[in-house]
Amino acid sequence: MVKVAARMEKLPPYLFLELDRLIEREHAQGHDIINLGIGDPDQPTPQHIIHALQEAATRPSNHRYPNYLGSVPFRNAVANWYRTRFGVSLDPLSETVGLIGSKEGIAHLTWAMVGPGDVVLVPNPSYPVYFTQALLAGAEVYSLPLLPENGFFPDLKSIPEAVLERAKMLWLNYPNNPTGATATAEQLAEAVDLCRRHDILLASDLAYAEIGYNGYRAPSVLEIPGAREVAVEFYSLSKPFNMTGWRVAAAVGNALAVNALGTLKSNLDSGIFTAVQEAAIHALESNPMGFFAEQSRLYQERRDIVLAALEDMGLSIPAPLSTFYIWFPTPRGMTSSEASRFFVEEAHVVVAPGASYGEFGEGWLRISLTCATERLVEAMERMKAATLRLS
Ligand SMILES: *Cc1c(COP(=O)(O)O)cnc(C)c1O
Repeated sequence: MVKVAARMEKLPPYLFLELDRLIEREHAQGHDIINLGIGDPDQPTPQHIIHALQEAATRPSNHRYPNYLGSVPFRNAVANWYRTRFGVSLDPLSETVGLIGSKEGIAHLTWAMVGPGDVVLVPNPSYPVYFTQALLAGAEVYSLPLLPENGFFPDLKSIPEAVLERAKMLWLNYPNNPTGATATAEQLAEAVDLCRRHDILLASDLAYAEIGYNGYRAPSVLEIPGAREVAVEFYSLSKPFNMTGWRVAAAVGNALAVNALGTLKSNLDSGIFTAVQEAAIHALESNPMGFFAEQSRLYQERRDIVLAALEDMGLSIPAPLSTFYIWFPTPRGMTSSEASRFFVEEAHVVVAPGASYGEFGEGWLRISLTCATERLVEAMERMKAATLRLS
């Protein structure tokens, strides 16, 4: 009998098979299911970016293998973008590398940096790739609970000295998925300082850089003095430009980590389709701040619809300043799995169970705002009605 690699057993069991089956069943019965479980922009990529791809796709020179690390013009555009957007200067060749989406880079950076005997410090709840890849690579995961009383920022002072000695990476993701929290410059500086003192690579996932409410603008960790000595950051075009399907991002910052990631990647993939890189250059050079503001206004309107409905359900939470997620406690002390089930069965609405992002997500649910506004209104009406029927 064929067998999969032993390391596959390190992956945590998938907890929500039952929920998936339930959704399928409800769907098959003809129920109109509204899915608020997935974070993927519903709006299209702007036309001018599509046109740039169409034009670039016709050029035969773009049909050959791409530059493995990202074309020089693409890496220049990323460095220029960091200068205009964050005031951070980067050497395009040694401090940037192109990625086939940041998920790819997050996974491979882990493989390039850690192995058996190493500890990876991972916020919990978090984007699952941080911990699943650390486990596959044979490293140990040390969970940093994200709790409402700490503004969903890890208590870095609570990490035992013995753990810090073996720690090689710390993941941070602000603005944060799934909690919607943002971090202050002081909090980021505290993380940079810790990593400098203990020779830990600080890996910052800036997937939600360009969503901001009430004038909020997310910083880059590289704005912190001394950060480039220990920090690498993932900047993706996916969420800002509604380009999740295109697969284009970059890792920037610490030259050793960027180089290690590039070396690993050149042994396993062959880079981003050059036409996609050309369209990405066009996107970054399109003076996009106005477009980001427009997208943020749309998400903010939806955010407020969800917050008002939750308030009516007795689940009021502080308004997030970024991301397209609303993270809120389950009604009536249900587990996140029970609550997700409840909303699928009683409201035909899918919300993500908090425990799928780690055990400290238990007791919470995540709503994604990437759903047509009128459908979101309908979903919240149904959830409200279902919750009121409970009492
Ligand atoms: C969406 C998301 C990503 C993945 O981005 P891609 O560039 O599309 O791979 C990475 N990190 C977080 C936290 C995300 O929510």
